[in-house]
Amino acid sequence: MPVVFFGHGNPMNALVSNVWTDGWAAIGRDIPRPTAVLCISAHWYIPATRVTAMAAPRTIHDFGGFPRELYEVAYPAPGCPELARRVQGLLAPIEVGLDQDWGLDHGTWSVLRHVFDAADVPVVQLSIDETRPAAFHYQAAKRLAPLRDEGVLVMGSGNLVHNLHAYAWGRENVEPLDWAVRFESRARELLRACRHEPLVHYESLGTDAALAAPTPDHYLPLLYVIALQRDDEAIVFPVAGFDGGSVSMLTIRIG
Ligand code: ZN
Repeated sequence: MPVVFFGHGNPMNALVSNVWTDGWAAIGRDIPRPTAVLCISAHWYIPATRVTAMAAPRTIHDFGGFPRELYEVAYPAPGCPELARRVQGLLAPIEVGLDQDWGLDHGTWSVLRHVFDAADVPVVQLSIDETRPAAFHYQAAKRLAPLRDEGVLVMGSGNLVHNLHAYAWGRENVEPLDWAVRFESRARELLRACRHEPLVHYESLGTDAALAAPTPDHYLPLLYVIALQRDDEAIVFPVAGFDGGSVSMLTIRIG
């Protein structure tokens, strides 16, 4: 099974059809049908490692100030308690809590609504432990490798460049900012060369990196995806572009 990092961007992408969401839908048609999805979303960034273990996860509307219709979106995909326990077992000895409270946040459903619009593929979310460094996440993710052979689609949902302070709110067709383009280009070069180390230690990549990932939450899902790249496995960028000048919509597919 391929492994995919989605740049989810604005929650409104859940409702619209654009070049990015069309690209996500194309991925859903192109990949083998997964037995389940394991999603690492930027929006479940908490001081613990937890995995959703309920049979019917709720749709969480974890944002403010959007039109009513976005709050009415439901993505009723089933959960998969067996996969939750499998993830718990694979990540041991990391302590992984079986969660009954969270559900599917918009990092997950705003994308999956396009990838699997029938909501008939079971979905499990894995939290990002905010107390741990980037290298921890990269190493932990490597333990999830067997899932690819078991037909599970492991996906990260965040944004390679995500700076809302610099975002051009309310303006359309904004040119991307120089540092945003530079950081994305640098990351693409490293990804193509399978050079993961500088991407894991992205804070050492200078000012552009600091602007691209002012907080780790939207960047770290990328590390869960690249950690599952096998030797010399192809990497492609099926969706690209910038939103608001400072959010990279790059999608990264491996395998
Ligand atoms: Zn987000």
